[in-house]
Amino acid sequence: MSNNGSIKPHSQNSRIEVIASHILTSTTLNPSSMASEKEAAIAAAAAPPPADAPTIFDKIINKEIPANIVYEDDKRPFSALPDLQRVLAFRDINPQAPTHILIIPKVRDGLTGLSKAEERHIDILGRLLYTANVIAKQEGLDDGFRIVINDGPNGCQSVYHIHVHLLGGRQMNWPPG
Ligand code: AMP
Repeated sequence: MSNNGSIKPHSQNSRIEVIASHILTSTTLNPSSMASEKEAAIAAAAAPPPADAPTIFDKIINKEIPANIVYEDDKRPFSALPDLQRVLAFRDINPQAPTHILIIPKVRDGLTGLSKAEERHIDILGRLLYTANVIAKQEGLDDGFRIVINDGPNGCQSVYHIHVHLLGGRQMNWPPG
């Protein structure tokens, strides 16, 4: 069923197959995360959650679950960054490259995905990319890296809190899957 409730039998099935295959391929590297990720991806494909639904990333932001954090804009009094421009970056639990880091806004502000971007989001979108570059240098990715933003079911997005994937440490291929 689509967002507006209409039935889309073919696209629904193919969507689930694509996302499930993405997850199944990725879990060959880390089988322990298979069940929860596959379930999350299939659930997201079946019905993208409401814009205000919390995600696993909220728990990471709130330090309710552990994450390997590599970068964080905090609220230090001397920081001039507005809350809406603060970012957090942590290692992906299911890495697809020797370096695989997710960069997210600390306040989602409606940005469940890139397709929800509005003009007011320009600053945070720029900061996500700029921070990816800062982290790439921090990680020593001097020979290059790849940035990925998955959007929606066809883009294999499984977590509806916008995030930039920073991948590096190996030769990337083209075209991507
Ligand atoms: P996407 O498929 O673009 O929505 O990417 C979501 C990413 O979040 C996937 O690469 C997951 O491996 C990653 N992920 C999910 N849960 C966690 C977690 N608890 N800690 C770190 N990464 C996670």
